[in-house]
Amino acid sequence: MRLKGKTALVTAAGQGIGRAAVMAMAAEGAQVWATDVNPKLLDSYDGVQNVRAVTLDVLDKAAIGKLITSIPKLDVLFNCAGFVHNGSILDATDADWDFAFNLNVRAQYWAIQAALPGMLAHGGGSIINMASVCSSLKGLPNRFIYGTSKAAVVGLTKSVAADFVAKGIRCNAIAPGTVDTPSLGDRINSYADPAEARRNFIARQPMGRLAQAHEIAPIIVYLASDESVFATGQVFSVDGGMMI
Ligand code: NAD
Repeated sequence: MRLKGKTALVTAAGQGIGRAAVMAMAAEGAQVWATDVNPKLLDSYDGVQNVRAVTLDVLDKAAIGKLITSIPKLDVLFNCAGFVHNGSILDATDADWDFAFNLNVRAQYWAIQAALPGMLAHGGGSIINMASVCSSLKGLPNRFIYGTSKAAVVGLTKSVAADFVAKGIRCNAIAPGTVDTPSLGDRINSYADPAEARRNFIARQPMGRLAQAHEIAPIIVYLASDESVFATGQVFSVDGGMMI
């Protein structure tokens, strides 16, 4: 029970990596607030021990503040929400740019700003931000808006870590490779030839396969736990060798 006594909040927890993180943290004894914009997805938590499921749209600053400040002692914040736009800079629109930066970056800033005063008041906390291998770590074709926004997540993470390093706050990012989640499935199915698209996603993974969401969860448990007490301001790649 590595997270016994800790309270965590996860955004975009209805499916994919967010859901895997909730299940792994709850299994380690944390009380977990599983939040998602889609209430139907949260039904899957009915009866799951240690999990409280709440609808939360991370594009709603007031709702983030209200929920986070209502939690008496939040120890762990996992900012998981994000969206992938396809295309190069020549395909980019201002609307897509704004959407991505609001969801992938601004929502993290809002959630951290809401959580920090409480964490500081009770002496510490661990913030985990969802970045990606596709970020400041690596450029990938046709990921202009996504990679740029996830690079901003790395900067945000290091800035928060630097400002609060001596105050018990740790802030790290995780950088997964390609993970077989529902949204990846949707993206694959949007190609004219989905089978070929899946082969292409697999081809960029040196291990020759995609990750499963539960294979990303252990790094989140580690960063949430006191085992990672000396780690802050870092980006942890779990990517099947993409960064070798
Ligand atoms: P997903 O994309 O399959 O699911 C995303 C979840 O986010 C859904 O449950 C959806 O309802 C929720 N969501 C969407 N908009 C929201 C909003 N405004 N407020 C709250 N919730 C919202 O999940 P995933 O593929 O596991 O991706 C999760 C995160 O991991 C994203 O930030 C993504 O960029 C990142 N990531 C994914 C991969 C991958 O290959 N799947 C790789 C690296 C990083």
